Amino acid sequence: MDILKTKSEMQEWSKNKKKESKTICFVPTMGYLHQGHISLMEKGAPLCDELVLSIFVNPTQFGPNEDLDSYPSNIENDLSLAKKAGATAVFLPNKENIYPENYQTEIRLKYLPDHLCGKFRPVHFAGVATVVTKLFNIVMPDMAVFGQKDYQQLQIIRQLTLDLDFDIKIIAGDIIREKDGLAMSSRNAYLSKSQRASALSLWQSLNLAKELIAKGEKDSGKIKHKMETFFKTFSQTTPEYICFCDPQTLDHVDSIENQILLALAVKIGKTRLIDNALIDPSR
Ligand code: AMP
Repeated sequence: MDILKTKSEMQEWSKNKKKESKTICFVPTMGYLHQGHISLMEKGAPLCDELVLSIFVNPTQFGPNEDLDSYPSNIENDLSLAKKAGATAVFLPNKENIYPENYQTEIRLKYLPDHLCGKFRPVHFAGVATVVTKLFNIVMPDMAVFGQKDYQQLQIIRQLTLDLDFDIKIIAGDIIREKDGLAMSSRNAYLSKSQRASALSLWQSLNLAKELIAKGEKDSGKIKHKMETFFKTFSQTTPEYICFCDPQTLDHVDSIENQILLALAVKIGKTRLIDNALIDPSR
């Protein structure tokens, strides 16, 4: 497995692979890898000749009071997990290499960031869209795999790939969960034992909504109210948003007639966790 520390090394590597007619699959991450990241690599590995993982904690997608400085990291362990999962290269740039002095350009989407996390993290998706655009130009993959755990991010990447004419196939990976249902996240490392117990409320509240919809409830407002009441039974747990939306546009849905995305962000103490489910009322 090759380790590439600068964008010129990475570009050179990809150009050489292309000359050899090798196809490249790309999995971007911020590191501190868990089974969710590994599942994306395992999904991509059989589809291409080369599998590139990037580890870059992108500063521009963090707001001023967010966890950029405390974001967990364990590069040694990440490299060994990446190798096991079939990565043939790891791109490990530093922030000066990605954003040199006098860096100026930003990618912003018009509508998708107005919903869900974008409402509460105003700079987040411009940071994501910009860094992913840059990573696509640096790695030059044929396909890239993103997790449905960050559903809004996945939609934004799909849209920017289309809008900016990237010839890159975007592949979605399922949400990987702990045995008890908590969606895996590098940020789960922040949770104390009691907070870890409260964190299960995200998964359980999604299941509560699924049950209500399966019983015929169509009023998203009523379901949201029941979910809010449910969250009150957990300590240190405050929902930031609970949204029922159209899975494509992310626009709010009042009456659940077709498949919806139910997405939530919840604060457990200081840790902000997200989760979501696609729910089909006809099933
Ligand atoms: P991150 O390192 O958190 O930026 O995530 C990198 C990629 O891994 C993104 O495409 C995420 O959506 C994906 N990812 C994170 N957690 C999970 C999970 N539990 N299941 C599947 N994919 C995930």
